Amino acid sequence: APAVELAGVAKTYRSGTTAVRGLDLTVHEGEFFSLLGPSGCGKTTTLRLIAGFEEPTAGEVRLHGTRVTGVPAHRRDVNTVFQSYALFPHLSVFENVAFGLRRRRVPRGEIAARVGAMLETVELTGLERRRPRELSGGQQQRVALARALVNRPRALLLDEPLGALDLRLRQAMQVSLKRIQREVGLTFVYVTHDQGEALTMSDRIAVLNDGRIEQVGTPREVYERP
Ligand code: ADP
Ligand code: ADP
Repeated sequence: APAVELAGVAKTYRSGTTAVRGLDLTVHEGEFFSLLGPSGCGKTTTLRLIAGFEEPTAGEVRLHGTRVTGVPAHRRDVNTVFQSYALFPHLSVFENVAFGLRRRRVPRGEIAARVGAMLETVELTGLERRRPRELSGGQQQRVALARALVNRPRALLLDEPLGALDLRLRQAMQVSLKRIQREVGLTFVYVTHDQGEALTMSDRIAVLNDGRIEQVGTPREVYERP
């Protein structure tokens, strides 16, 4: 089964705003798939529907062949990193990243190795003992990224995860995410309003506008569109 399938999906919020409508979308396993479009076009809503944080008003969302609605979050084998990276304020950087592994009773030595390697990937080595409030916004965002990646989920849903980073770090993280995709082979669904970022990172891109998908294609197809 594909990693993600949306069929005729619509979402109207209680306020009456229809954020997305008529979404048909397939994301293949192992793909780096971006949702691209201007602010307010429905990217975050689409990601929240895939994560199961929102129920569709119409249509169906499937993850790895299973309907999302009604399945508890921890059974879905996806991890998410949203803009509001809710870290545990009382836990150190190390313990924030280790949290899911401890819950699954992964052996201590393996936790140390996996958390250490992941903190190296996101360039946070040396900050293991800090609390989130002692970190910059960009550092906190990288902790959230490490916390999601260390669990090795089948799919990772990311909402503008590099938005708070300066140019150098953003480029370094782009390279790291692509390397992780190659090495781990997980599926990425990646929300961005940055066309350049979508074009360099993605296997395929869905361009959203006003709650609808305007186009789906490879970076080349999207870029060369008249
Ligand atoms: P994007 O991520 O592309 O900026 P969103 O999915 O956040 O777009 O928003 C799409 C539309 O839905 C916007 O008009 C936004 O104001 C509205 N919207 C988003 N979240 C909510 C909500 N929780 N309640 C009501 N309206 C919302
Ligand atoms: P089980 O209890 O069935 O062993 P877990 O809860 O340990 O399963 O985790 C199953 C999968 O769900 C893992 O891949 C893990 O990364 C992911 N996961 C765990 N907790 C969460 C969460 N809060 N949100 C999203 N995914 C999660």
